Amino acid sequence: MSIYDKYEAVIGLEVHVQLATKTKIFCGCSTKFGQIPNSATCPVCLGLPGTLPVFNKEVFMLGIKAALAINCQIQEIVKFDRKNYYYPDLPKAYQISQYDKPLAYKGYIDIVTNDNPKRINITRAHLEEDAGKLLHDQHPSATVVDYNRTGTPLLEIVSEPEINTPEEAYQYLSTLKNILRYVGVSDCNMEEGSLRCDANVSVRLYGETKLGTKRELKNMNSFKAVRAAVEYEITDQIDTIEDGEKILQETRLWDADKQISRSMRSKEEAHDYKYFPEPDLVPFHITVQQIEEIKSKMPELPQARKNRFIKDYNITESDADFLLSEKIYADYFEETVKEGADPKLVYNWLSGDIMSEINDQKISLEEYNFTAKMLAELIELINSNVISGKMAKEILKESAKEGFTPKAIVEKKGLKQISNEGELENIITQVLNSNKKSVTDYKSGKENALGYLVGQIMKETKGKANPGIVNKLLRERLL
Ligand code: ADP
Ligand code: MG
Ligand code: ZN
Repeated sequence: MSIYDKYEAVIGLEVHVQLATKTKIFCGCSTKFGQIPNSATCPVCLGLPGTLPVFNKEVFMLGIKAALAINCQIQEIVKFDRKNYYYPDLPKAYQISQYDKPLAYKGYIDIVTNDNPKRINITRAHLEEDAGKLLHDQHPSATVVDYNRTGTPLLEIVSEPEINTPEEAYQYLSTLKNILRYVGVSDCNMEEGSLRCDANVSVRLYGETKLGTKRELKNMNSFKAVRAAVEYEITDQIDTIEDGEKILQETRLWDADKQISRSMRSKEEAHDYKYFPEPDLVPFHITVQQIEEIKSKMPELPQARKNRFIKDYNITESDADFLLSEKIYADYFEETVKEGADPKLVYNWLSGDIMSEINDQKISLEEYNFTAKMLAELIELINSNVISGKMAKEILKESAKEGFTPKAIVEKKGLKQISNEGELENIITQVLNSNKKSVTDYKSGKENALGYLVGQIMKETKGKANPGIVNKLLRERLL
């Protein structure tokens, strides 16, 4: 047994998600990504004297929606607090956040790692405003600041220290992201900063009930980086303890190039921030009706929908995982099936040809012209032998390009598959007469001569002959 097996890791994650509003949390400035630096600012989000914040109702709606999606209880009141600290990216020298009354608390999400299901409890989820962004690489001798992000609405979701492996941390993040994107509260785009994660890590001997001293890791810019950082941190802490040293409570930065973490500062305590109730925003009650109204607009959650797909449509777990990875895939799939198409065929088209088309064109399924209804029509054309599977692939491409339905394209181009036996017989006779050698070959046992003959018939009919019927007729003729 190695020394590492004696220890258990304990991980708690703090995730900040940007709520998908058009404007900031306390002013009307745009939250759009990539605007000219400092252009999306006003006296309120720049913290100028005499200004007052006004709470954006959309933030409230999306916050509650997110909270419900992660199974949280909702607070009875909305109350904000000031978290005081000085930093150049924070023009007011305080951040409006929530301290003792988070918007939501006591939630959970269910994750699966290596087929093991596990429930991770969520301590709280609270609203706050984001700070600006310091840029260290824009000027040779100075750091510059972009206040466009200042006042961007965030929901901070804090997990219980119940995650025990780097893989569980990874799964927790993927599941959380999937749920939040699914209900449409955030795009969770890590590159644009709409999702950020800090990981708190400690270790203790197995059997120990007291938590070890934690270190907080920041600066991971992907879920994989979180997994790697946590992995590194666990080993490093065990090594430190085994060397007879103590773990210090501190904040560390992950260095992705070197794949190590290093100390940034010792961790501050809550009392360092001198929290007090935000005097410029009056607390208000959340009514039961408001919560009920938001609940009634919630889509079916991914986990429940996945189970239903497996049961109702008889598809595999991994097929369902693909479909539920984006709400739009699940919607497209289900709409096509409701038009009467076979679920497995729909899955095959969607995960195959359609995905490769939209990837090639670098567009999303929303932007794709080929609708669920058209896919159902295409599948029906194949099933009723009007077109072959191969023709269908071409028709899909054209239909998506020109916006005509598959039926319209079949009509317009005269693409109907030839399934009429009489018509095919004539063509077969012609082909057999002009390929006598292949006929003899086949009769003397060369099975692949048949393939050649089928190919000639397809060529003669410009690919329109129904391959199944051609095969059948040919075999009969060559008996
Ligand atoms: P702080 O006030 O230092 O930010 P919190 O109690 O708010 O600490 O917890 C922050 C996060 O750290 C939570 O996700 C929590 O689950 C996690 N956490 C708390 N204590 C530990 C610990 N000893 N080991 C690992 N994670 C911890
Ligand atoms: Mg914290
Ligand atoms: Zn503003």
